[in-house]
Amino acid sequence: GHRAAAPQQEVASVCPYCGVGCQVGFRTRDGMIEEVVGRDGPANLGRLCVKGRFGFDYLRHPDRLTRPLIRIAGAAKDPADCLDPKRARQKFRDASWEEALTLAAGGLVRIRDGVGPQALAGFGSAKGSNEEAYLFQKLVRTGFGTNNVDHCTRLCHAASVAALFETVGSGAVTAPFTAAAEADLLLVIGAQPTQNHPVAATFLKDAATRGAKLVVMDPRGTGLDRFATEVVRFRPGQDVALLNAMLHVILAEGLHDADFVASRVDGLEALRAHLAPYAPEAVEARCGVSANQIRRVARLYATARAALTLWGMGVSQSVHGTENARALIALSLLCGHVGRPGTGLHPLRGQNNVQGASDAGLIPMMLPDYHRTGDATYRAFLEELWGTPLDHKPGLTVVEILHAAERGEIRGMYIMGENPAMSDPDLAHARAGLAKLDHLVVQDLFLTETAALADVILPATAWPEKDGTVTNTNRQVQIGRRAVAPPGEVRQDLDIVVAMARGLGLDWRYGHAREVFAEMAQAMPSLANITWDRLEREDSVTYPCPAPDAPGEEIVFHDHFPLPGGRAHLVPAGPGDPGELPDRDFPFVLTTGRELEHWHTGAMTRRARVLDALQPAPTVSLAPTALRRLGVAPGALLRVTTRRGAVDLTAREDPALPDGVAFIPFAYTEAAANLLTRAALDPFGKIPDFKHSAARIEPAEAQ
Ligand code: SF4
Repeated sequence: GHRAAAPQQEVASVCPYCGVGCQVGFRTRDGMIEEVVGRDGPANLGRLCVKGRFGFDYLRHPDRLTRPLIRIAGAAKDPADCLDPKRARQKFRDASWEEALTLAAGGLVRIRDGVGPQALAGFGSAKGSNEEAYLFQKLVRTGFGTNNVDHCTRLCHAASVAALFETVGSGAVTAPFTAAAEADLLLVIGAQPTQNHPVAATFLKDAATRGAKLVVMDPRGTGLDRFATEVVRFRPGQDVALLNAMLHVILAEGLHDADFVASRVDGLEALRAHLAPYAPEAVEARCGVSANQIRRVARLYATARAALTLWGMGVSQSVHGTENARALIALSLLCGHVGRPGTGLHPLRGQNNVQGASDAGLIPMMLPDYHRTGDATYRAFLEELWGTPLDHKPGLTVVEILHAAERGEIRGMYIMGENPAMSDPDLAHARAGLAKLDHLVVQDLFLTETAALADVILPATAWPEKDGTVTNTNRQVQIGRRAVAPPGEVRQDLDIVVAMARGLGLDWRYGHAREVFAEMAQAMPSLANITWDRLEREDSVTYPCPAPDAPGEEIVFHDHFPLPGGRAHLVPAGPGDPGELPDRDFPFVLTTGRELEHWHTGAMTRRARVLDALQPAPTVSLAPTALRRLGVAPGALLRVTTRRGAVDLTAREDPALPDGVAFIPFAYTEAAANLLTRAALDPFGKIPDFKHSAARIEPAEAQ
């Protein structure tokens, strides 16, 4: 006879993909996720995008690692293995947890004690929980003895955070994206929210439909354009000039909020002097935007009652990313569009927990809660809490660490849940750096491109398999609950980090994530009045939170900024070096990013059946006129070459792209966009120039 089906159960958690932080219900039966539904969270009100709805069968994909792996003695590390997981797998053998952990920690101890702590580094993850991020940075700082700890925030909003700290004194958003409901103008620049923050995009569309003005500024067309009052298509790399011209108009016409500036903002006269050369007529040719449109948009923004400013990687992933953000923040400060309902500064955070991982201290120059490593008072407090002396020198950032590895200065690494062999710029060098390490420990779900170069691979837990908290782009701390058991011998990530710490000689005794959260609350005043028990009851609490029974503050800075004197700063931005310019040999501007269906390096979404079916192969998007000039039709195989490398991909026609611009998503191993990108860094945020490389494009058949 038939066995009666087990009843379906629903476990409340959060979507593990993007920074929107949609609350989900995992509906499970017999230890498997059968379907995912949207719950009524503050950031999604029941809505989900295609990733949150269909992106979970990677949990049971046959590629999933279920046992620790150890590199077979003598099996050479070859960057070519990054392209071929099957070949890479043959260089590893199964191992017990005991053997793998002993080898993993032992190799790091040997380098720490033989060469020194500064020869070690760790990459934590914005895809793990707050508790994992906190323990990981504590492990590197106390077990390795260095501040060489970073994560993918360096590749996404480091420039925005640097500028926000300098201008308004805090790196997080000043208002949630749901503040769009009370705005009468939305400015969205350098962002593709319909692809990268799809549920947030629905709130922006709702606001526009209700009658709010929507200004969309981007070199590429966006999915919001058809809702927009003004679409400003500017030339790639000219954002600083364009924003400065808007500031010029506002000051020249006296449209700024003089009372707000007088009472709350410093630096007006220096900014005014700096802007003299940026009259709209002086920059219109350079920006590819008419002086008339620059004036119109500046006036719209300045005269709005309440404007919300949102931006994405288009602003930050640039050699002048910090300058872009400075100019954008100046626009908002000058017009008083911050600290009131419907106003605010909102860098749309990428990863589901990049806000929380940054808050927890997964940053080389900052301890938890953004205290600089040189801050003697906080460091002394932390040394007391942790019972260990700490290094005062800032550590190296993501790209700097891999360059140091290539030079042989970094010799050992522990990488948890990040994939630098796909996500870093100029991959030929990044992969060479990883391959050169004496000892690499990788903790992940799959044999990723990075794990292909490891000495020890520790199989990790997927998000629906664990308890933990995450913090979304809106500063909402949310709880995720374990819905299914991990496969095979997979252990909880938190337990693996604790075991590694013990192998490094630390006497750690953490059990459940709630114990780690309790310690975080001691180390991080930002979490005041937020407890694990409260999160279990309420699912989501926004920080800062004034009392145990009060809701958190959605909109901050209503009467002062967290800077000396409570005043914000206008910081002049420019000139804004546009990066690698196109020339005769490399006539296109190549820009990289994501698609709706695939998350980052594709490790999860390319192993989700529905998402893979929707978007199965790498493409290069070009304007119809550019395709005609190349003499090819959509679907043709094209070769894209930069000074760093070449990849072959299928041509796709995109009428929303300007003629000289090409777009490639970075999720595809077989045509890795980052083989093409440049490792040049923004001097302040240390973020690479993913959005601007000079490229040559030709039919691949001609090769
Ligand atoms: Fe998940 Fe982001 Fe989609 Fe929400 S918008 S379902 S958080 S990927």
